[in-house]
Amino acid sequence: MKIHDISMTVHSDMQVYKSRQEMRPELKITRDFDDSAARETTLCMNLHTGTHMDMPLHFIPGGATVDQLDLSRLVTACRVIDLTGVDLVIHAEDLMPFDIREGETILFKTRNSLSEDFDFEFVYLATDGAEFLAAKGINCVGTDSLGIERAQSDHGTHKTLLGADIIIIEGLRLKDVPQGRYELCAVPIKIAGAEAAPVRAFLIER
Ligand SMILES: [Zn+2]
Repeated sequence: MKIHDISMTVHSDMQVYKSRQEMRPELKITRDFDDSAARETTLCMNLHTGTHMDMPLHFIPGGATVDQLDLSRLVTACRVIDLTGVDLVIHAEDLMPFDIREGETILFKTRNSLSEDFDFEFVYLATDGAEFLAAKGINCVGTDSLGIERAQSDHGTHKTLLGADIIIIEGLRLKDVPQGRYELCAVPIKIAGAEAAPVRAFLIER
């Protein structure tokens, strides 16, 4: 059995969405050995920083939240598909050759995995690609950018996926993972009423 860690490491200089200062995690040591018997750290972080999952409430008022998630949806068989040949935008026609089936969990490996710096021109999923996945009725889609959409004023990709109850995972690291079938574990922290949560994501290869 081999485990592939596909999570970002959280640190103060990590890549964050659009390099926005307010998305940067703050780690503060609040107690340490100089005057205490133990060390404690406080983390202040946007829920969409680093590897994380989005629930319907992210774009749908009244939508389901992290604490309502059935964990079997993120502890599941999955497929990594190689889209490193896609230049900027993933369209339905890029997904058609993969014979995607109902209930599947699909992770996109793109050129986003090749850099640890935030790329303002990151590869994203077009609305027609999201509509294709919604029509298939998949369980979850994961991507290796910090956003599954970019420059869409109507947020068509997020709204289409979340409206079809497809869970989104963003910020995966797939550079060293070949295309293929795996078991995915991407379990979110249980936060009441939250639209998103950090996940520690890994793949099991048997
Ligand atoms: Zn997000």
